[in-house]
Amino acid sequence: MDNGMIGKIEKAKRYAEERTRIHITNLAVTFDGENSEHRVTFDGHKWHCDCGYFHTHSVCSHTMALERVLAGMVPQYTELS
Ligand SMILES: [Zn+2]
Repeated sequence: MDNGMIGKIEKAKRYAEERTRIHITNLAVTFDGENSEHRVTFDGHKWHCDCGYFHTHSVCSHTMALERVLAGMVPQYTELS
């Protein structure tokens, strides 16, 4: 492996620890809920989920779980306690 690649790998490791460098602008996932599968999307500002709870509350366990997984890379709308 050449020195250039070694340097890139080291930089990648450092970047991976600095999550606030990464700003997710578009995301679509399939979320395996306890009862059924849900489609969750994020457009850089707002979440959307096709579950019934999200439809009435604009937030749900699926979007909150993804906020935790992606902490630092998406705006935090809910309390991460
Ligand atoms: Zn949901």
